[in-house]
Amino acid sequence: MMRHLGLTPRLALVFVLFAAALLAGVSALAYANGRAALLASTTADLLSTAHEKEAALASWIEHRQADMAALAASPRLRADLALLLANPDTAAARAAHNRLVAELQPRVTSGGTYLSLMLIEPVEGQVIAATDPAEEGKFKEDRPYFLEGMRHPYVQNVYYAIGLQGLAMTASAPVTSADGRLLAVLAGRLNLAEMSAIISRHSGLHQSDDAFLINPSSLFVTQPYMLTDPVVLQRGIHTEASRRCLAGQSGTLLADDYRGVPTIIVHRWLAERQLCLIVKVDQSEAFVPARAFGAQLLLISALLLVVASGVAIGLARTITRPVLALQAGATRFSQGDRSVTLPITSGDELGMLARTFNTMAAAIGAHEAQLRDYAGQLEHRVAARTAELQVAQTRLQRLVDANIIGVAIAGAGGEIFEANDYYLDMLGVTRHEFACGQVRWSDVTPPEHLPADQRALAELAATGVCTPYEKEYLRRDGTRVWVMIADAVLPQEDGSMIALVQNITDRKHAEQELARQADDLRRSNAELQQFAYVASHDLQEPLRMVSSYTQLLARRYKGRLDADADEFIAYAVDGASRMQTLINDLLTYSRVGTRGKPFTPVDCKAALEQAITNLKLMSAEHGALITHAPLPTVLADAPQLVQLFQNLLSNGIKYHGAEPPCIHVAAEARGAEWIFSVCDNGIGIEPQYAERIFIIFQRLHTRAEYPGTGIGLAICKKIVERHGGRIWVESQPDQGATFYFSLPQHGDASQ
Ligand code: ADP
Repeated sequence: MMRHLGLTPRLALVFVLFAAALLAGVSALAYANGRAALLASTTADLLSTAHEKEAALASWIEHRQADMAALAASPRLRADLALLLANPDTAAARAAHNRLVAELQPRVTSGGTYLSLMLIEPVEGQVIAATDPAEEGKFKEDRPYFLEGMRHPYVQNVYYAIGLQGLAMTASAPVTSADGRLLAVLAGRLNLAEMSAIISRHSGLHQSDDAFLINPSSLFVTQPYMLTDPVVLQRGIHTEASRRCLAGQSGTLLADDYRGVPTIIVHRWLAERQLCLIVKVDQSEAFVPARAFGAQLLLISALLLVVASGVAIGLARTITRPVLALQAGATRFSQGDRSVTLPITSGDELGMLARTFNTMAAAIGAHEAQLRDYAGQLEHRVAARTAELQVAQTRLQRLVDANIIGVAIAGAGGEIFEANDYYLDMLGVTRHEFACGQVRWSDVTPPEHLPADQRALAELAATGVCTPYEKEYLRRDGTRVWVMIADAVLPQEDGSMIALVQNITDRKHAEQELARQADDLRRSNAELQQFAYVASHDLQEPLRMVSSYTQLLARRYKGRLDADADEFIAYAVDGASRMQTLINDLLTYSRVGTRGKPFTPVDCKAALEQAITNLKLMSAEHGALITHAPLPTVLADAPQLVQLFQNLLSNGIKYHGAEPPCIHVAAEARGAEWIFSVCDNGIGIEPQYAERIFIIFQRLHTRAEYPGTGIGLAICKKIVERHGGRIWVESQPDQGATFYFSLPQHGDASQ
């Protein structure tokens, strides 16, 4: 409940509660003190009343004893008594008896102190004269007042007198002769109404004052003031006060009285009288001033509380005003008002708080300005980046929409959920069919291509991209298309990926066609080579026969026939000879491809020297000089390498200029190759023929100028290419020619 109140009401309430508690405490203390004081004064009153009544009772009894003693000492009484006793049953005695009665009689008056008086003779205890004639002749020998009264004046305590059928109290005294002889016991029965009057006499201090006596049998001995019915000896009393009192205790207590009403009680045990005196007053009356005091206290407390409430509210406002100002400032601040500055009205903790708040607000304002600045910069950068992204996205979208390549986006499970028209066309699926059903890669992939997909997925998982690979797709109509796929994982964390798919069916078909044609070519080439070889080989024999016989014809019939015949035979011999050369060269050419040997490490220097040896005659004939630089060892077909050097050297010798031929062979490493060079000082070649001279049968000169078949360089080209190299020439007319050829350093050419 308190939690829902504002600070001011809460503080005020706390102050008011505190003041109320304080007032209640003080009031309760004052009331308790006042009540205790009242109790003490009332108890003192009751005690003094009790003392007074006890003293009055004692005094009354003493007076009664004195009365008896004085009457017993009366000379006339003594004299008449002596007469009566001395001569009983005489006229004198009767006269004396009558005088005695007459003397006693005046003391017995209605409502007086004594109800009756009597004289008891001491020997047998018989009443010899009495104001009540009924008493005369009775024996009182066992009565305490008789027994005690023989010795001294005495008052017998209250007792129940059977004869009276009620309470009695009797005073007595010895009547003695002049010589001290006991004549009789004078006894007077007391009027208890007097004692009652003494006890129940109202003190006047309180209206509910009451006092009474009770005897050891817990019976009322005097009539309580409060009771109208006669209760003496009629009613018992059994209260805490009577119990304590009859147990011999004297004291005070707060307890209920015989009516059950709370009272303040003083009780005194009158040991001499064997009676209990109880004096009391009703608490309701005794504490009336206390209640009035309490009511006043309540009124004053209420007034003080009202005043305290006002003060509390004022005080609470004084305390909470700066706090509320602080709160209002903080609220405005939290709502965005950064101009808030709290007034510093004091140097206390609240002042400190306000100062700290101002410092904090200023710091936050500065930070916010800085943040706004950062945010502005960030927004600017985001806008720029967004524009860039939009451009990139537009480009990408154009690429996708251009349908020059298939684009598909698939989930981690392989389900395709985005694709462009190119892709769908490739699969033969309409967009409607694609939208209706889930298309998975595995559904459109022939089983034999699934391993390729698995490899690509594994690579994607490892690196995020996969090496483009080729596969086939199964189209909806059952036909197949060849595609080239490149996958990449998208930046999202759900494992989705994008695939760029190019339809390469046409290329694949072209490749297949090319391969088929290459196969055909290879086969026809092989057949051709085989044909050339077989033809050149098989032609050798008949040609050799033609040549032999034409030569034989020439030898035998030269000059025997006419001149034309000699000339014709000479043509036939020359033709057969040229044909033999041609066929030999052709055979050599065809053997390069069909009769090659496995590659082995070949020392190029040795191969060159073998070629030089083979050309020794030709060299000598033309006075040629052949030199060479250090040459490497290469993996090669050794006889073909010799053939290569030999063809190039022989051309260098054959196509010499005015100077004797001078040829230099060298080799240098370049990259993974050896570049060999064969340089001569011959007639040189027009650069325009640099390619042509490597074609079979292509010659730049007539046979008359330079003999030859036009096959030598074609053989060289075929040998070099078989070794995985190239051959070319650099030359200018009349400046010599340099033939270059390359060989792999590690001999990895096809064999
Ligand atoms: P052949 O030498 O039998 O004519 P080749 O194939 O060896 O056939 O040569 C083809 C042609 O290349 C020759 O006819 C010649 O014109 C030219 N040729 C070859 N080697 C040289 C050279 N070292 N210098 C000048 N021309 C040459």
